Parts: sequence; structure tokens; C-alpha cells
Amino acid sequence: MIKSIVIVGGGPVGLISAALMGLNGLHVTLLESKPKDFDHKDSKALALSNSSVFILSRLKIWRLLEQHATAIHEIHTSQKNSFGRTLLSSKDCEEDALGYIVSYADLINALKEKINTLSTVKILFNSEAKSLKEMNFEKSIEFTEKNATKSMLYSLLILADGGHSKIKGLKIVREEIKLDHAALVSHLETNKKHKGRAYERFTAEGPIALLPNKHDTYTVVWTGPEKNISELLKLDDEGLLKSIQANFGSRAGTFTKISNRKTFPLKSSRLVNINNSDVISIGNASQVIHPVAGQGLNVGIREAFTLSSFVHDLPETPTKLNIAREFNAMRFNKSADIINITNHLATFFSNDLVGISELRGLTLTLLDCLSPLKRRFVKKMSYGE
Ligand SMILES: Cc1cc2nc3c(=O)[nH]c(=O)nc-3n(C[C@H](O)[C@H](O)[C@H](O)COP(=O)(O)OP(=O)(O)OC[C@H]3O[C@@H](n4cnc5c(N)ncnc54)[C@H](O)[C@@H]3O)c2cc1C
Repeated sequence: MIKSIVIVGGGPVGLISAALMGLNGLHVTLLESKPKDFDHKDSKALALSNSSVFILSRLKIWRLLEQHATAIHEIHTSQKNSFGRTLLSSKDCEEDALGYIVSYADLINALKEKINTLSTVKILFNSEAKSLKEMNFEKSIEFTEKNATKSMLYSLLILADGGHSKIKGLKIVREEIKLDHAALVSHLETNKKHKGRAYERFTAEGPIALLPNKHDTYTVVWTGPEKNISELLKLDDEGLLKSIQANFGSRAGTFTKISNRKTFPLKSSRLVNINNSDVISIGNASQVIHPVAGQGLNVGIREAFTLSSFVHDLPETPTKLNIAREFNAMRFNKSADIINITNHLATFFSNDLVGISELRGLTLTLLDCLSPLKRRFVKKMSYGE
């Protein structure tokens, strides 16, 4: 088995990857720039697919996390000012749920707790990766821990930094598309019980998603051009509630309270190549996809799962192999469909060209009428198959 694995980034994908490899008996050191007690409390709600839940169950953390999760039993999709809607239901697809909503904070805390029980995984908090060095065939990573500069040898480096860091010596080629889009995320209360129903409504100002939470509340995620989102942010709570209600309609009841606003800039990026033969990237470090279909993290979790068996099967000193190229080809084949579907959803449903609205209505109606098509769509989004 390969030795000296270093992971950069302790977001959900880095932590899941560390836990999976640690359970497989591999020794892993994870560098995370944030402090150990960093409070993720106000972060976003995430929709986990059934394949992610399967992987978290394998890690034996799902039972703990499930107490904080809300099951999605139905997804209602519609568009403003046009006919056509579709209702995906867990019953039609013979699943317990179509997915689950968890908070980023609960997921991170459950993973850290799990890793605490593994003697094979060490997390260095307050540790920011800075540069890669190579000397006499030995590769090392330099990082700052608090104010001290340190370095560590590695035979495999896994980049799970969300694409945020600028590590010197990393020869990574990404294709980035500046979307000039942003997401407004907020907590929303209504006078109607949600019964596990999530909503996606396409409007001229961008898609609005309502994700069901505990206590019959929702997380609203409104994505759209930056200028639209910044106009929404200027509104007071009452004005914002009115705007959401006017665009969303009354299918989820009357919205009574909005709180805890946050915005996230959106971009789209994908890994083209890594020219460091012993560096693999996963999660948002590999691709950042539009949140319209709630798939970014799910793709990353599947990559972490694929990676754990890929690494487990590597020889101790894989010097002759180009590990990065081999894994990338495998990763790309598995994620390509989901990324393509998400890109199409984001453009097709946000396009205002004449005739497109009718075509969207027709697509939603067709999807609603054709059960096998619905089941295939859900299977693809749930399991990536
Ligand atoms: C509004 C919104 C809603 C979303 N909803 C969903 C959803 O419903 N379902 C879904 O599947 N996905 C969703 N996503 C996408 C999801 O949030 C991301 O795909 C996911 O967070 C990526 O996880 P990650 O671990 O790859 O990266 P990150 O979560 O970005 O974590 C990266 C980590 O690396 C650390 N780091 C960075 N640089 C360094 C360095 N140099 N040294 C050490 N550490 C470093 C950071 O501190 C951070 O902890 C959404 C995204 C947005 C913006």
C-alpha cells in the first residue's frame, strides 16, 4: 500500500476522503487552514443524494447525521408564467427518500467526530498549504502552522481545497467560466407544513429552490445574475419576502419570516489537467458546478469513494505510474454526465429566448407523464448511473 498520503483541505470532500482511506488502513495527514473549533454554524444547507447517504452509512456516521437531516419525499418543479410542472416522488421511484437536507456544519462535525476515532488519520488545523518542493526524488509540501513554516514528505497529495488555494509548484490547468452569477441563501418560514417536499421554480430572475428543513421551515436558494441578487439584498425582510412570494407563488403557503441571509458568488470551473504526477484533485478542487441541481458535493463524495479504492490498490512506490492522469480519466468518466445535466439545467431553464418557455413547459409536462423517464432521471441524479 502507498505510504505518506497528504490531503489539503478539510471541507466535506477532504474529510470523507481521509475517513474512507483511514478505514482502509491507509495513513493520512490532512492539512486544514481553519482552526479546529471553526464555527460553520451559519453555512449552507446541502441536498445529499442517496449515493452520498450510502457512502456516509459505510463510514457509520449516517445514523448520527440522520437525526439532523430532513428527508425529501417529493420535488416539485415549475416555471413562472408558463404551463408545465413535474412532481418527482420517492414512492414512484421506489426509494425511501429522493435525498436528504443536512447543514454543512452538521456534516463537518459528524466527519470530524468519526476521524477522531481513527488512529490512521491525523488532522493538522490552522495549517495552510503553501508550496510543493522536489529534491533528490523526494517530494514535500510546505505549509504554515499558525506562524511557523513546516514541511512534510508525501508520496501522494490529494487536493481537496475547494479550488481556493494558490499552492506554488502546483501545475494545474483549470477551465473557468465567470458566470457573474450569485446565490442568495436564507432561512424561510411559512404557514404550511412542507411534508418533505422540495421545490424548484424557474423564473426570469433565476431559479428559486426551497429545501425542506426541520420544524417545517425551508432554506431558500435563489440563484441569478449578480445584479439581480444585489437588488434583492437591498430589500428589507418584508420586501424580500414579498419578492419571493410574488415569484414563487403560494404552493408552499404564505411566507411569514425570512432570516439569516447569506450570498455566495458562483462560478463554473473544471479541471483540465494536473501536470504533477503524484497530485490528485477531488471535489470543488476539480469542478465547481452550478447549485441548481444540488449536485456539487454529491459528485465530490462519489469521487472520494472512487479514490479510496483506487489508492488502496496502488503499489507502495508507484514511481513509474502517472497517478494523476490515471485517476483523472476515471474521475472524468464518472462525473461527466451529472456535470452536463447540471449545465443544461442552468442554461435551458434560465434562457429567455422566444419559444424556450413553451419548450421548457413541454419538457416538464413530458417528464411528469413518463414514469420510466422520471425514474431514470432520479437514478442518474441519485446514484450517478
Ligand atoms: C449556494 C450553494 C448551494 C449548494 N448546494 C448544494 C447541494 O444542495 N448539494 C450539493 O451536493 N452541493 C451543493 N453545493 C456545492 C457544495 O457546497 C460544494 O460542492 C462542496 O462544499 C465542496 O466541498 P469541498 O470539500 O470540495 O470544498 P470546500 O467545502 O470549499 O472545502 C475546502 C476546504 O479546504 C480548505 N483550504 C482551502 N485552501 C487551503 C490550503 N491552502 N491549505 C489548507 N486548507 C485549505 C478550506 O478552509 C475548506 O475547509 C452548493 C454550493 C453553493 C454555493
